Amino acid sequence: MVEKTYNEIKTIKEYALVNKVPIMVDDSIDFIISKIHQKRVKKVLEIGTAIGYSAIMMALSSPNLIVTSIEKDKDRYLEAVKNIKKFELEDRITLIYNDALDVLLKEKYDLILIDAAKSKNLDFFNKFEKNLEPNGIIITDNLSFHGYVEQEPSQIQNRNIRALVRKIRNYIDFLENNIKYKTTFYEIGDGLSVTEKRM
Ligand code: SAH
Ligand code: MG
Repeated sequence: MVEKTYNEIKTIKEYALVNKVPIMVDDSIDFIISKIHQKRVKKVLEIGTAIGYSAIMMALSSPNLIVTSIEKDKDRYLEAVKNIKKFELEDRITLIYNDALDVLLKEKYDLILIDAAKSKNLDFFNKFEKNLEPNGIIITDNLSFHGYVEQEPSQIQNRNIRALVRKIRNYIDFLENNIKYKTTFYEIGDGLSVTEKRM
């Protein structure tokens, strides 16, 4: 990476840290980029832009990659717009400011990255699976939820966290038992899954 790019990425990461924006950790973004190369991904749909960090990293990883990314938080969306301008990636990254569950897309994508509200993974999956190319993959982030998902439910004191963990487990069960899709789970970053259509 050239030094200017490196410094600008560093600035975004620092902004995320200071403002508590949960951007992806390096291992996760590296893994996703390796999948992008392996599967020759050309079009990405991302649910959960935050401040544009992962969208920018994906776009920088492949010169012809195009990304559509959805964010419902206004401040984050505006910060993402600024960041994407800084990298002059406006022609390859399209941002949609809306709740993803209210967005209707007709196009198909090689990669759908679900990285938004953990409790709504199943809703996002059900809504956007029709937008997946036959050979495409769906990657879902934060399936471990900082290790909570691996814990005994009775060990989790906080009710809200317990409810969220139950939802994440439901989603994992849904993926594991889905006859249309095959899913592999990875203990990378905060837990990732890669889902593809069964042939
Ligand atoms: N992918 C980003 C991080 C996303 S953090 C990166 O790694 O750089 C998750 C984001 O999803 C938050 O900014 C949150 O506002 C957004 N989000 C949560 N629910 C959403 C929804 N229903 N529609 C759109 N965005 C949503
Ligand atoms: Mg995440």
